Amino acid sequence: VKSAAMAGTDLDDGETDELADEIKVTLQRELQDQRKALPVYKFKDELLKAIAEHQIIIVVGETGSGKTTQIPQYLHEAGYTSNGRRIACTQPRRVAAMSVAARVAEEMGVKLGHEVGYAIRFEDCTSDRTVAKYMTDGMLLREFLGEPDLSSYGVVVVDEAHERSISTDILLGLVKDVARFRPDLKLLISSATLNAERFSDFFDMAPVFKIPGRRYTVDIHYTVAPEADYVDAAVATVLQLHVTQPSPGDILVFLTGQEEIETVEEILRRRTRGLGTKIAELVICPIYANLPTELQAKIFEPAPPGARKVVLATNIAETSLTIDGISYVVDPGFCKVKSYSPRTGTESLLVQPISKASADQRAGRSGRTGPGKCFRLFTEHSYAKEMEDETVPEIQRSNLASVVLSLKALGINDLVSFDFMDPPASEGLLRALEDLFALGALNSRGELTKTGRRMAELPLDPMLAKAIVASEKYGCSEEMITIASMLSAGNAVFYRPKDKALIADAARQRFFNAGGGGDHVALLNVYTEWEQSGHSAQWCVDHFVQSRTMRRARDVREQLVALLERVEIERRSSAGDLDAVRKAITAGFFRNAAQRRRDGSYRTVKSWRTVFVHPSSGMARVDPPPRWVLYHELVETTREYMRQVTELKPGWLLEIAPHYYQENNLDTPEPKKAKSHGQDAAAAVATEKPSLSLKDFFKA
Ligand code: ADP
Ligand code: MG
Repeated sequence: VKSAAMAGTDLDDGETDELADEIKVTLQRELQDQRKALPVYKFKDELLKAIAEHQIIIVVGETGSGKTTQIPQYLHEAGYTSNGRRIACTQPRRVAAMSVAARVAEEMGVKLGHEVGYAIRFEDCTSDRTVAKYMTDGMLLREFLGEPDLSSYGVVVVDEAHERSISTDILLGLVKDVARFRPDLKLLISSATLNAERFSDFFDMAPVFKIPGRRYTVDIHYTVAPEADYVDAAVATVLQLHVTQPSPGDILVFLTGQEEIETVEEILRRRTRGLGTKIAELVICPIYANLPTELQAKIFEPAPPGARKVVLATNIAETSLTIDGISYVVDPGFCKVKSYSPRTGTESLLVQPISKASADQRAGRSGRTGPGKCFRLFTEHSYAKEMEDETVPEIQRSNLASVVLSLKALGINDLVSFDFMDPPASEGLLRALEDLFALGALNSRGELTKTGRRMAELPLDPMLAKAIVASEKYGCSEEMITIASMLSAGNAVFYRPKDKALIADAARQRFFNAGGGGDHVALLNVYTEWEQSGHSAQWCVDHFVQSRTMRRARDVREQLVALLERVEIERRSSAGDLDAVRKAITAGFFRNAAQRRRDGSYRTVKSWRTVFVHPSSGMARVDPPPRWVLYHELVETTREYMRQVTELKPGWLLEIAPHYYQENNLDTPEPKKAKSHGQDAAAAVATEKPSLSLKDFFKA
């Protein structure tokens, strides 16, 4: 009886297997057909020939021509990996690295992480057999630390070079140097825009290989008058397009970040619900960096027959990801841009008008598969007269401390003569050196110290890295890496459903009130309780904590544990001594100290900026608020807000950072009049906003 039943099952399984195999074969054939339809395919042989003949090549092609997904496969097929060396393909964006790797694995019919893999910070999805490694540019930069000649790679593709991210810019200088002493290394610099000459010049007149793109005409429409609220305008435009424009034809909307995308998603859902059954379904697909991987794939799925897809994306859809089937682009003309003031040492993310080059890229997304339409929610005058031609390279508007630390760790001491494509301002470099000196990472001659070497091993911002290194002294490395993991796992630790906002807030405040004097230890409390619950998902639900963030924090923590061993820091718990933990944090973040003023605002101790406690901080509900605090970061919205705030004892600043603070920095009386006084003038300059605000843009 048993064997008959077994035979029956075998037969069934055999049939399903066969069916599954058949589907697989059909899908694979379709994929291969799609590959052959990409513009780059026709140039495959020519491209391989050029690569064989030249060590360095600049590849330029319209977004969607197949540069990222195809070229590494061509190289692999042509035997560039048969010597056991890999192909690296760098991406400025985490999501792009993951998504593209998944696609290429699918095309090659292999499991992601096997022949094709990706590596992003705190996540390595590769194995010994990986031949094509998609990775963030920052990850390859880190690999230089362990392997300065990049000997595991036979080809390096610096992709999306036109984005000019800070890590890409540094990579360009480093790989140029490596190519000189490794003639066997092939280097491809790939860019979407046509300013390839800059890259060619930088690489000693390397040949430019152009992949002629297919581009259909794109009708561009501008608003007649500036829009007062571009979010509203974007929603209205999408709805209007949806009800008036023929299907098929998907819509792509460019927004500035997760919050905005969520707002638009919610409004669209609400408004389409009332449209009745006569109107086709609108499938809403958001895409931003912190979106769970499962949902990221959704943007590539075609809408069901009769329905229309609207993709709500950040800048990521400008060139890094190509979504097929887009006929309409809605472009409010803004993006979030990092900006940095070396004078005050503050970095902020600001919503700013995009450049003309960006606007043109965005418009082009609608004309890939047929004629498209782009709706610009700004005036033609703004485009012609107000927008910059190009976006300023990130290296010229960023805090350079992290980069300088990496370069020093690579033995590059003379930063001024480093081969930058566009050198950063010397003021910014100087500031970075000062900061690293203050953190004890450099000595007074600008050389890397032992502390600095340990900090450089940790893939974290130098301040956070210093806090971890300092935790050795205060005997609290276990607590400190937990806090660092929670800070690195993303801002979304808690969630707050609208209908349960009060309970959620109370749940959140409980972690804060459990002791520890601030948000940092509150994060530690969250993690500890979650761990005690056996990493329970139900615990997360009960406490309004995002279990995805917690799982990520656990992954990050595991890696930090391994790194502690590498930099030889003993794992020790302070066993409830939370002052020790706060002191370790202070050792990294002493620069972010602020003192409360009578009006309830805070003033940063050294740079005299007026800042406020972020409403999401547990500190916002402490009465009276502490006189001295220390924050993790500033976020600028309507005001400058401190995020992750912890109470500080002012004596600690003198004890822990005596080289940075003197007695007279502390307890300065409140300025009566903010006039003509030298320091106040400096403070006034310090609080000056360097960039155009939204309001100014619309007024203009
Ligand atoms: P390029 O790098 O030149 O901009 P890509 O190689 O990224 O072009 O994309 C080529 C094509 O591959 C796209 O048009 C799209 O059809 C497809 N593609 C890329 N990534 C994905 C993905 N994650 N899922 C589905 N299709 C994808
Ligand atoms: Mg690409």
